[in-house]
Amino acid sequence: MNHPVPELFGSMVFGDAAMKERLPKAVYQSLQQTIREGSPLDPAVADVVANAMKDWALSKGATHFTHWFQPMTGITAEKHDSFLTPADGGAALMEFSGKELIKGEPDASSFPSGGLRATFEARGYTAWDPTSYAFIKDDTLCIPTAFCSYTGEVLDKKTPLLRSMDAISREACRLLKLLGKDCKRVTTTVGPEQEYFLINKADYAKRRDLILTGRTLFGAPAPKGQELEDHYFGTIRPRVKAFMDDLDQELWKVGVYAKTEHNEVAPAQHEMAPIFETTNIATDHNQLTMELMRKVADRHGFVCLLHEKPFDGVNGSGKHNNWSISTDTGENLLDPGKTPAENRQFLLFLTAVIKAVDEYQDLLRISVASAGNDHRLGANEAPPAILSVFVGDELGGILHAIEEGRDYTAAETTKMTGASVLPPISKDTTDRNRTSPFAFTGNKFEFRMLGSAMNIACANIMLNTAVAESLRQFADELEQADDLAAASALLIKREITAHKRILFNGNGYDDAWVTEAEARGLSNLRSTPEALPHYTDQKNVDLFVRHGVYTPAEMASRQEIQLEEYAKTLAIEALTMVDMIRRDILPACVSYVHELSDTAASKQTIGVDNTTEVTLARTLSAATADLLTHVTDLENALHCVPDTDAAGTAMYYHDAVLAAMEAARADADKLESMVPKTRWPMPTYSDLLFYV
Ligand code: ADP
Ligand code: MG
Repeated sequence: MNHPVPELFGSMVFGDAAMKERLPKAVYQSLQQTIREGSPLDPAVADVVANAMKDWALSKGATHFTHWFQPMTGITAEKHDSFLTPADGGAALMEFSGKELIKGEPDASSFPSGGLRATFEARGYTAWDPTSYAFIKDDTLCIPTAFCSYTGEVLDKKTPLLRSMDAISREACRLLKLLGKDCKRVTTTVGPEQEYFLINKADYAKRRDLILTGRTLFGAPAPKGQELEDHYFGTIRPRVKAFMDDLDQELWKVGVYAKTEHNEVAPAQHEMAPIFETTNIATDHNQLTMELMRKVADRHGFVCLLHEKPFDGVNGSGKHNNWSISTDTGENLLDPGKTPAENRQFLLFLTAVIKAVDEYQDLLRISVASAGNDHRLGANEAPPAILSVFVGDELGGILHAIEEGRDYTAAETTKMTGASVLPPISKDTTDRNRTSPFAFTGNKFEFRMLGSAMNIACANIMLNTAVAESLRQFADELEQADDLAAASALLIKREITAHKRILFNGNGYDDAWVTEAEARGLSNLRSTPEALPHYTDQKNVDLFVRHGVYTPAEMASRQEIQLEEYAKTLAIEALTMVDMIRRDILPACVSYVHELSDTAASKQTIGVDNTTEVTLARTLSAATADLLTHVTDLENALHCVPDTDAAGTAMYYHDAVLAAMEAARADADKLESMVPKTRWPMPTYSDLLFYV
């Protein structure tokens, strides 16, 4: 390690320390107020900040700046401008104005807008988000910004996230006021655990499916998978360790609190967990983390795969969104304290979350819907597509007692270990349930349905807004109450009773749960095209409009974009599959059949038994013919895409194209086990997963 970590950490961030050092006191304070309390930015401040930011960036070797934003593609976008300004006599100055800091006009007409913006009026604006610190990446000062259209419609993921944070803050502060707490700002915090695969660059280069779609479209299972569970938390191999160390350094420089690194369940799969931050910053940092993972992997001869399901038959990658709410004094509102049964504040906030998840199951499901994530949810490796909340035994007991109107008596906490030399550890009251999509884990909820490649903004927008709505209803009711204690007890009891169907402590991977969930009336939206049409259900539009998070037009555009993205993703996958079958796999099979037939014929002319070659040639020929049939079916399916709306098209891709792809893949995977390794046109699962 070259530098001590504290010195390295945030060295490329124009954060609090740099601001304090370089800004006049009044400007610093004004900016701080915006950052901490969400108060509007004083325009006079911008020029001063811009200049200080530029000087700081130049001192770090930066030459360019960019407004760094998150369009609805889910990735981050940037367009670089240099600080260069012509000066007298052909000289050059490095300049950066407040205007350039606050507002950018990247045009950017090719980003999806879902009909919000016609190309002829394509102007899109970026606007500085002072609550997320600027940082330097590749000699470029990156300024986190929001992105909106000329007419003010939001075209990105950051703006609605900030709006949803305002909404939950507003409603939570109302409730806290009733509880005697004068709080100006409540923030939601997030710590996203990021899973990923590392494979060798040379293998990646030989697989068009990985290059074009991010996942393998073919591949017979390797003789060994994850059944021995020897990779999970296993010793980290030296090359991977070197990657992780390098990644940590890069993340620390840009101010990401990378904390935990370990091997995950599938071979070649790993995870990085950062320390939690404010949702907005956690989102920016997760985007940055994914980008740096890819970049650092390249330096180590790896490719980092962030797709949700790069390999069939072993676990895919998710992202656990650890989420909580805290006050401006740092009090965690989901902290149960020592006696949760008597902790009114905790119970109100807990109840608000339970109610929100139950009432907006569909939105939470939609927030994690993508073609990639469809391969994980409900596949016995990730939570099912059905939302439920795990609260553990103790909280479950408390909620049950409330519902029945009894007093709660705490069960004896059992001690673990039991060997005299080991310290006694009292059993965690919220034990782990890895199969739950939404689990209470001590003082936060862990939303586990997110896919590894996703921008976490969506999930948090839904979560923040849905909880804001519960809190609003609670505040409305309790503000009218004469006896707050009695009224809140009544409210908690009523809401827990109304929403207890969403509470489930059992095994979410069990088939029996699907049946039980249905009996409980929980929604089970299995696929993306099944889920997305519910986005614009009236109750959801009402929710977002009420809290000022989305306009109906913004919602319709997002729905359209996501449906189109689903169809496009599947179209690319199907076309890649056809291309690889026709140009790689079929020729390899045909040429091997040819070799076998030649050998069989020569053997026959010299009177040597050729049964082996004939048998092999026959079987292989038949299997190749099957593949040809199925690839033709797939091509036909692609030719018959109906000319309907986005929802209909997406559903068609799901029903017809995906099914045809699965049939063709089965043939190809069968052929892989029959063709010599030297003739198979791409690296196999063994090559990809076990040689890192
Ligand atoms: P686990 O609960 O999985 O054993 P940790 O408690 O260390 O592990 O947390 C896992 C993730 O949850 C980390 O990214 C951590 O920063 C995050 N986390 C912890 N507390 C909070 C909180 N109050 N709000 C949001 N995320 C949190
Ligand atoms: Mg994990």
